[in-house]
Amino acid sequence: MSVRAALALILSSASPALAEDLQLAFPLDCTLGQDCHIQQYMDRDPSAAAQDYRCSGLTYGGHKGTDFALPDLAAMAAGVTVRAAAPGVVKGLRDGMQDGAPLAQVQGRECGNGVVIDLGAGWETQYCHLKRGSLSVVEGQEIAVGDAIGLVGQSGKAAFPHLHLSLRHNGEPVDPFDPEGSSCDVEPSKTLWQDTPPYRPGGLITLGFADHVPTYADIKAGNANRGTLPTNAPALVIYGYSYGTQKNDVLRLSLAGPNGTVIEKDVQLEKPQAQSFRAIGKRAASAAWPAGRYDGTVTLLRDGRVIDEKTGRLTVQ
Ligand SMILES: [Zn+2]
Repeated sequence: MSVRAALALILSSASPALAEDLQLAFPLDCTLGQDCHIQQYMDRDPSAAAQDYRCSGLTYGGHKGTDFALPDLAAMAAGVTVRAAAPGVVKGLRDGMQDGAPLAQVQGRECGNGVVIDLGAGWETQYCHLKRGSLSVVEGQEIAVGDAIGLVGQSGKAAFPHLHLSLRHNGEPVDPFDPEGSSCDVEPSKTLWQDTPPYRPGGLITLGFADHVPTYADIKAGNANRGTLPTNAPALVIYGYSYGTQKNDVLRLSLAGPNGTVIEKDVQLEKPQAQSFRAIGKRAASAAWPAGRYDGTVTLLRDGRVIDEKTGRLTVQ
């Protein structure tokens, strides 16, 4: 082994004393924009107001990490693995807390089932809201990057299934998207990510179809969507489930069938919402719905610009 190779080996196994040595890997087995999304970034505003690292509003006051959310409870039940974003030693953990417990029961234990990993040199990561009984590490265990830690859950203070990932240096929260807190448009090379997840200022979680306006509980559970409806369905409904929307955003919903457009509408959103859904539909006329393929499109617009769009297919038979 050359001196240079030996040196590189020593350096790579050393503690990340400098932020430049720290590189976080993506901490979940999911694909952003497809089966997970970043719901909230770290709050960079020391005042009572809140601002994410792009000086936008995808955060809330005092939020000290990044929230990676699953689309619904069905995805959580199926199991999405949480993986170590950086190597280290398990410093502490907690398991046994119920997923989806009332907030009053989680006071002082807001992280829920969680793991803290000591990265050395004052750095640590914390993984929160893991699924009860899913933790696959023990205290003192050495962890390599990418090792499975547990599954995404909804334990602790969590209104929806997600992973909260915190990075701290000497106890102080550090935003891996902009560790120096320098600007509203940090260069990707200055983040602490191996591959910086692209910024999305809100978007669409899912779209779906039903024969009635679904309940919000059914959408959050992941059992509202019907891929197939009968020709005598009482109505055809399309819904869009969105996150990080702002006042005056527009949700454009459309459904087109074998005979052309069934329904199409722009719905203006009246207030900022972390998550919400909108549905439009058409009641059945006296004749049956034409059998065949129906295409649904949901588009989220902000200031007239498309910020996200999803399409889906309904079969009527
Ligand atoms: Zn969080």
